[in-house]
Amino acid sequence: MVQPKGGMARDEVEADLPDQDQAKDFYATYDPKEILGRGISSVVRKCTEKNTGKEYAVKIIDISGERSDSYQAEQTKDDSIREINILRMCTGHEQIIELHDAFETPTFFFLVFELCKQGELFDYLTQVVTLSEKRTRMIMKQLLTAVEYLHSKNIVHRDLKPENILLDDNLNVKLSDFGFATVLGPNEELAELCGTPVYLAPEVLDVSYGNVPGYRHEVDMWACGVIMYTLLCGAPPFWHRKQMQIFRMIMQGNYKFGSPEWDDISQPPKDLISKLLVVDPRKRLAAKEALEHTFFKREITPEKKFEAKKHFKAAVLCINFFYRLKFFFNNPPPVSIDILKSNPYSVKYCRKLLDGCAFKMYGHWVKKADNQNRAALFEHVPRDEWQMMIDSILGN
Ligand code: ADP
Ligand code: MG
Repeated sequence: MVQPKGGMARDEVEADLPDQDQAKDFYATYDPKEILGRGISSVVRKCTEKNTGKEYAVKIIDISGERSDSYQAEQTKDDSIREINILRMCTGHEQIIELHDAFETPTFFFLVFELCKQGELFDYLTQVVTLSEKRTRMIMKQLLTAVEYLHSKNIVHRDLKPENILLDDNLNVKLSDFGFATVLGPNEELAELCGTPVYLAPEVLDVSYGNVPGYRHEVDMWACGVIMYTLLCGAPPFWHRKQMQIFRMIMQGNYKFGSPEWDDISQPPKDLISKLLVVDPRKRLAAKEALEHTFFKREITPEKKFEAKKHFKAAVLCINFFYRLKFFFNNPPPVSIDILKSNPYSVKYCRKLLDGCAFKMYGHWVKKADNQNRAALFEHVPRDEWQMMIDSILGN
C-alpha cells in the first residue's frame, strides 16, 4: 500500500500512480512518495526502498498508449530501453546520475535513480540569479568531465541544459535525463531535430533546413557554451520573443557579452565561451580541450613556503583595507541622480538590488517555457513606467 508522506494527503501521493497490480515488483520493493518533476510521458517521484529506508527518485514512464497513439507509445518504449542501456554504460561515473534499479511492465517503465536532494541547477540558478566565476568553474569542470566521458564512449546527450543537470547534497553535478541520448556509430551523422530551442546547436537547425546532412557529438559542446554563458550572466546568449529569431541568431552565432552584465567578468571565461559558441562544429572546442583551457587552471595553487616578510605585508594591507572599508561606510561614494534616473542598471549596487527584487517578484525566468527568461523580464516594464518608479523612489 502506498504510504502517504507526513502531512501529505493520500490523494496527492496516489494521483496518477500506476495500479499496484500493474507493477507488483516495484511496489514490493519501494514506497512511492511526492512528485519531483514531470515530463511529456514521465513523472519523477521520490520513493523509499522498503528494506533499507533509503530514499531514491523514480522516473515512471507511461508506455501504455492511453495518453498518446500507439505509434508514439511504441516510440517511447524504444526510447526508454535506449535510455536504460546508455545509463548502464555510464554506471560508476561520479558526475552522471546513478541508475539504481529498473522495472519493466507492459504499461510502465520504472527507473530508480539516486536522489539529488538539491534538485535542478536551473532552480539553484533562479535562487542565486547569477553564479560567481569560482562556482561556474566548479560546475563547468564537472559538467565537461561528464561530457568528455560520454563522448569517449561515443554517446551524445543532445539535451544538455540546467534543468537536466541535478545537484547532490554538496552541490556536485549529476548529469541526468538521457531521454534523447544516443550512441553514435563511426562516421554516423544524426538528423533528428531534438533538444530545447535556446540550447540547439546551429548544425541541428542546418540539418532541418537541408543545408547539411547531419550532426554529431559537437552539439553537446555548443550547449555547454550556452549553459556557461547563462550561469555567469543569468540570461541565455540567444534569446528573442520570436522563436524564428532565436534560430536566426543561433545560425549566425549572433551573441554578445553585453554591458553592464559582463563588465565585472574576467577575460578567461569569455574566451572559453567564445571557443564553444563557434558555428562551425569542426572548429568548436572538444570537451577535453575545453578542460585544458586557462579558465580551469586558476584553482591549482602550488604549495608555498612560509615567508615572514610577505605575511607582515599582507597583515598591513589587511588592516589598511578594513580602515578604508569603515571610511567607505561612513562616506558612501556619491551616485549622481541623473545616472540613477537615466540608467540605474549601470550602477553595480543598484544592479544587484534591482536583480534581486525582480527575481523575488517573478521567481522564475527561463523556466521550461521559452517565453520566460531574464531578458524578457526586463522588457516587461516599458521605459516610462521604469522612469516613474525611479521618480517615485527619489520623491520627484
Ligand atoms: P524528462 O525526460 O521528462 O525531462 P527528467 O529525467 O529530466 O525527465 O526528470 C524530470 C525532472 O524530475 C528533472 O528535471 C528534475 O526536476 C526531477 N528529477 C529527475 N531525476 C531526479 C533525481 N534523481 N533526483 C531529484 N530530482 C530528479
Ligand atoms: Mg528533463
